[in-house]
Amino acid sequence: MSDSTLVTGIVELATGHPQPVENSSLKEGAQDGSLSVTRNAAFIVESGRIAWVGSAQLAPAADARVDLGDRAVIPGFVDSHAHLVFAGDRVTEFEARMTGTPYSAGGIRTTVAATRAADDELLRDNVRRLVDEMARQGTTTVECKTGYGLTVADEARAIRIAREECDTATFLGAHVVPAEFAERREEYVDLVRGPMLEACAPYADYVDVFCERGAFDETETRLILDAAKGHGLAVRLHANQLGHGPGVQLAVEYGAASADHCTYLADADIDALSGSSTVATLLPGVEFSTRSPYPGARRLIDAGATVAIATDCNPGSCYTSSMPFCIALAVREMRMSPAEGLLAATLGGARALGRTDIGYLAVGARADFAVLDAPSYLHLAYRPGVPLVSSTFKAGIRQ
Ligand SMILES: [Zn+2]
Repeated sequence: MSDSTLVTGIVELATGHPQPVENSSLKEGAQDGSLSVTRNAAFIVESGRIAWVGSAQLAPAADARVDLGDRAVIPGFVDSHAHLVFAGDRVTEFEARMTGTPYSAGGIRTTVAATRAADDELLRDNVRRLVDEMARQGTTTVECKTGYGLTVADEARAIRIAREECDTATFLGAHVVPAEFAERREEYVDLVRGPMLEACAPYADYVDVFCERGAFDETETRLILDAAKGHGLAVRLHANQLGHGPGVQLAVEYGAASADHCTYLADADIDALSGSSTVATLLPGVEFSTRSPYPGARRLIDAGATVAIATDCNPGSCYTSSMPFCIALAVREMRMSPAEGLLAATLGGARALGRTDIGYLAVGARADFAVLDAPSYLHLAYRPGVPLVSSTFKAGIRQ
């Protein structure tokens, strides 16, 4: 778009506000933001940002004009949790899981072997393919983790690719202990918090740890988080996915931007999250794809925690790139309202990434938005699996 473009033909504009708005046409009191819906709206984009927003009848003049043809518009989705730097797939493992055949070996280590064997170009092409796929479904910001290299060299190239191809890059050397270190866990933790972190820190926004039984325990997680802080890096955690554990409490203690999964929460975990700025990021595509119980979103929201929804796009536990699908799951399976689902997928994701310029559409925000072939954002949950996103704009530029 050229400078100063008036965007019209918006039958409904649904957008979150970073702060609760008095007298907005629709308020969701539970989340510490609110969704407002404007009929027959318009906005002006200038230098990639929103310069004006309001009723179409009140729109001021602009240099250019784009008519969206009576469609609904929402803020671009912020997918704050994805694992995109990998090679191969695990469709056989999925088939086995869905047909009840026990599957033991495989898992993350299958993808580690394929990723190590791939060249840079293949890995980069795969990330680009997935980021494009996300954009076609309305996503304008993507967080991408490493974690399928698990050697200094393989993690370093993964974080470089994530840095170059995605908005936020997260170092996840502590994804799983690789097979060659199975009998030497302490050595692997020392490698992660030493040379591997050293090599990845210049490219990383965050350090993440899979804090879970079978992955990394509390002591190991603390060592890695302390090392991250030593490098001045912010942290986030995979926490309480497969069972109760210390992950959520550690996330809050360390001031993590986000505790992700949050499937098994004690009351003390809910209290800790609701009394902190750590976002509870829910990944319902994982529960869907693994036939597992869903997280208790209502408990979190009703307690006042900030909730985000993300895809967790990865070849093993959840290979969807679709935020609309995750919203549909959040509404249908986790009893979030459609407004809460949209807020969690936009403003919630932005908060989980420490961003204040995205996830909503108001003056000053980046002009990241998705246009729906539908009269209302409600159709995202009402029509699951339907490709409703007709176009996606990032900083005012059509993707
Ligand atoms: Zn994950």
